[in-house]
Amino acid sequence: MSVWAVLAAAGRGERLGRLPDSAAGQSPAARANPDRPKAFVQLRGRPLLAESLERLEGSGWIDAIVVVAPPDWEEPVILLAEELGCGKVVAAVAGGASRAESVRIGVREVAEDAAVILVHDAARPLVSDEVIERLLAALNDGSDGAIPGLPLADTVKRVRDGAVVETLARDELTAVQTPQAFVASVLRDAVASGREATDCSALVELRGGIVRVVEGDARLLKVTTAADLALVESWLDADA
Ligand code: C5P
Repeated sequence: MSVWAVLAAAGRGERLGRLPDSAAGQSPAARANPDRPKAFVQLRGRPLLAESLERLEGSGWIDAIVVVAPPDWEEPVILLAEELGCGKVVAAVAGGASRAESVRIGVREVAEDAAVILVHDAARPLVSDEVIERLLAALNDGSDGAIPGLPLADTVKRVRDGAVVETLARDELTAVQTPQAFVASVLRDAVASGREATDCSALVELRGGIVRVVEGDARLLKVTTAADLALVESWLDADA
């Protein structure tokens, strides 16, 4: 069974603010671009993307990796993969305007004979083999997809124009992360719909696919703000 990873790294990361020049990529196009994308913000002295890339490369479960890069940053991505010795990286392609579009572009690069496609956000650097193993075990049990989730600590309300419309039953709610794993043919069909969604599972759900939730990991935090970056950095420092 071959497992391909699509690493979505084409987000702009505007909430992280302008990055220092030391985060610049190698290509002229990248150097000329003063707004460094989120994948190239520095985490412990190297691009954020390096952490998830190295972890997927080191995973015994993953056979090949497609990186969806910010437009004009394909070359720095390839150079980074070479520098890290990530021989599983088979392509770096320019992403689209939305996450769904970027994933659609990445999935096109996956080999026809792949059995499973695992989609991961580069914005979640601390991907672990334990989570990947739980996802693949759930797929082996016959589901179309498997996603990591965590229970919510806060009460969630639906709000419209500043007024509460509904209070949702917290025991039925799960905060969902990536990586998300799917039977390859199921994900291909789901992304081909061209619909927009904030995760891949939603596209599979819309087509009636069965998606199982496995235990997630608090360390799969999505880096959105500078404070998130500092938190991930402190976890890595504590492990070092
Ligand atoms: O947009 P959001 O913060 O949910 O991004 C989640 C992941 O999707 C990030 O890793 C980001 O790089 C990626 N993304 C992408 N293409 C876009 C927007 C986001 O690959 N157009």
